[in-house]
Amino acid sequence: MGFIITVVLILAALVAVARIRAPLGTWTLVVGIALLFLTTLTRTLPGALAFLLWVLFLFVMVPLNFPDLRKRFLSKPTLGYIRRILPPISPTEREAIEAGTVWWEAELFRGDPDWQKLSSVPAPALSDEEQAFLDGPVEELCTRLDDWQITHELNDLPREVWDYLAEHGFYGLNIPKRYGGHEFSAAAQSDIVMKVASRSGTAGVTVMVPNSLGPAELLLHYGTDDQKNYYLPRLARGEEIPCFALTNPYAGSDAGAIPDYGIVCKGEYQGAEVIGLRVTWEKRYITLGPVATLLGLAFKAYDPDHLLGDQEELGITCALIPTDTPGVDIGNRHYPLNGAFQNGPNSGKDVFIPMEWVIGGEEWLGKGWRMLMNSLAVGRGISLPASATAGAKVAARTSGAYGRVREQFNVPIGKFEGIEEALARIGGLTYLMDAARRLTTSALVQGEKPSVISAIVKLHLTEGARQAINDAMDIHGGRGICMGPKNYLARGYQQIPIAITVEGANILTRSMIIFGQGAMRCHPYLLDEIAAASEGDSEQALERFDKILMGHLGYATVNKVRAFIYGLSNGWLAPAPEKGELKRYYRDLTRYSAAFAFLSDIALLVLGGALKRKEKLSGRFADALSYMFLCSAVLKHHDDAGRPSADLPLVHWACQYCLYHVQTALDGVLRNFPIAILGGLLRIVVFPIGRRHRMPDDELGHEVASLLLSPSDTRDRLTQGIYITENPDDVTGALEDALHKVIAAEPVWRSIRDAGVKKPDFEDFDAWLSRLIESDVIESADADVLRQAHAATRNAIMVDDFEPEVGAARTAHEAA
Ligand SMILES: Cc1cc2nc3c(=O)[nH]c(=O)nc-3n(C[C@H](O)[C@H](O)[C@H](O)COP(=O)(O)OP(=O)(O)OC[C@H]3O[C@@H](n4cnc5c(N)ncnc54)[C@H](O)[C@@H]3O)c2cc1C
Repeated sequence: MGFIITVVLILAALVAVARIRAPLGTWTLVVGIALLFLTTLTRTLPGALAFLLWVLFLFVMVPLNFPDLRKRFLSKPTLGYIRRILPPISPTEREAIEAGTVWWEAELFRGDPDWQKLSSVPAPALSDEEQAFLDGPVEELCTRLDDWQITHELNDLPREVWDYLAEHGFYGLNIPKRYGGHEFSAAAQSDIVMKVASRSGTAGVTVMVPNSLGPAELLLHYGTDDQKNYYLPRLARGEEIPCFALTNPYAGSDAGAIPDYGIVCKGEYQGAEVIGLRVTWEKRYITLGPVATLLGLAFKAYDPDHLLGDQEELGITCALIPTDTPGVDIGNRHYPLNGAFQNGPNSGKDVFIPMEWVIGGEEWLGKGWRMLMNSLAVGRGISLPASATAGAKVAARTSGAYGRVREQFNVPIGKFEGIEEALARIGGLTYLMDAARRLTTSALVQGEKPSVISAIVKLHLTEGARQAINDAMDIHGGRGICMGPKNYLARGYQQIPIAITVEGANILTRSMIIFGQGAMRCHPYLLDEIAAASEGDSEQALERFDKILMGHLGYATVNKVRAFIYGLSNGWLAPAPEKGELKRYYRDLTRYSAAFAFLSDIALLVLGGALKRKEKLSGRFADALSYMFLCSAVLKHHDDAGRPSADLPLVHWACQYCLYHVQTALDGVLRNFPIAILGGLLRIVVFPIGRRHRMPDDELGHEVASLLLSPSDTRDRLTQGIYITENPDDVTGALEDALHKVIAAEPVWRSIRDAGVKKPDFEDFDAWLSRLIESDVIESADADVLRQAHAATRNAIMVDDFEPEVGAARTAHEAA
């Protein structure tokens, strides 16, 4: 009993010093007193262990308090070790690492998230003008979009849609009003892209690309006044169609290695000799390229004749080139997975461009990579997350409705447990994705350029959409497979790999970018340590490094103690805000955040620069950080929505799903730790009582699936912001119409069943209804309800068929 009380008191003291992040002196005092109690006063520790602990205390912990001793025996050797394991960082890597800002993910990374900080982030809100644009031009655009016509018949947007986009300023959503643009917030841009993409992926891409990383975004931040004043109004009015070309056949993911080049030289421009560049390039996959009038081009600039100065290799440079410039070869198209958005290759050989076409002018020559990296976070945080969430919302809304109206074995298929599993995944993931989309736009609205968060949402929301659309396809069976005007799923299913591939392909983003950049940017000491280790003067380097190292040791110790104690108490001792039944998820996140901070520190220490090539390990760290972010987004989303209790099954499902994946990721790190014995020891700290998180159980899955099967406020909130209509002649409207009519018919069917009547297979439906009316089983109004439900269901479940010549004609046309 005395032992237990002593241990509890010691743990409490350690938690207290860990929570206040006490200085080293206080730690030494507390640990010394604890040892004294355990070994001499209560004599509870076995002799050998007591001896070992005293040795560690007296010869490691106490000397740390004496700077000279510490520098000689700890800081100096550690500095030497750090110098040996330091990753070589190229200038392009450094610019990529330093680009953008860190935000809420840094709190999760560092082990002690301040929940008040998250809570105080304002929910993204639209201005009256933005809402009016969504309800007006965006809604109207959606009614005009016929995705089958676009992707199958025209292989392009109809001319009038191109005109409509230009007329209503869809290309200038992010351009300031003074240049004639809408100057909409990130939240509004995200909502607009989501709604348009829910109707047509092709239209979604066409709207998102000019407003994402491209000429307008680059001009806004880096353009000269002349460039801004000339191009931004033209872009806003849709008089220029922009594209941005970085990818070369030999440089895709490794975009910093593009072989496209520009040589500084003199040439003729508008009748005068000026300094410019002779540019040669070969690009592919360029969205809007085939119709672009303004080509944003990235190439490497060289000055071999020293026309500008001593430097020969100037670096990646971005320029704006009118596509009618002699020598620009533009025009052919790629055909990306039946998406009809314009995409294609372009090239040029020795095309002379004057210096004034370089974005930002000569001052920004060679600084294009920094421009691109700094601008990437914003667009990447808006476009793909919005279109991926649109895909998941469409999957959720249609799969739920289809699960209710489609019957097999005389039961709506949505009631079968097998279908329930898929429906629950769609519902839970959709909630999670929308939550992450909104939290990211909140960061953008606050002026952040969150490069790590934008990579997280790019990866996980496109993967979430892939899962949701796959599940939706399975639920729809043949209805999702047969293509034609009635099919609302197949194009999304076909095209999801595009979102997976662009703006940082997902494998690369997961295994290299998120943790790599996250560690550099979010870790409170790493960058400073690297800077100190790179310092030339040894004395100064040691002095600086010693200070940072002490902070780092304190940070690591605190995280270790917290991770262990929170783990031991299954999260109960972890601080969390009062959030009712959701409080436990905040606790679990605080616990995992401490475990993540501790574990990532050890991995960085052991592996150093080699971690860059340990992509499986880095990928698991990325998963842990990502799912902590996603889980916190879910909790915030529920709060922002006013904590509706009807949505709780979705919140529980999403939180449990995320926490299970955090646990799996950390478990994977430990299982595959490069030094196995260390992995085993770290496991005692991270999972002292084992792994206790489970995937959402069947009962919770049932509750989530049920929410998708009936109209409700929760279903509307879950799918808010996509295009919804009940028009039975519309591709998704037919399903909404059927859902309402089928539900209205259910009581009538029940009364027929209660009367013990069954429709004979051989009898016509109408004739049978007449017979039921005659025999007073139902009233004629009830028969109408059944007739309407029957017709609406048929309208919703039928697929398209085509005359044999249609296919033949198309084949012949394509062959020609
Ligand atoms: C439809 C479409 C539209 C596009 N639009 C544009 C545009 O407008 N402008 C533009 O400049 N570009 C555009 N792109 C190019 C796009 O950004 C590239 O496709 C992307 O960068 C990936 O390059 P890649 O296709 O050459 O694949 P690769 O670089 O060859 O990669 C193939 C696979 O290897 C993986 N991989 C690569 N390196 C690593 C690593 N170190 N670790 C782990 N995995 C790795 C990738 O994740 C990927 O899964 C577009 C592409 C497509 C398909």
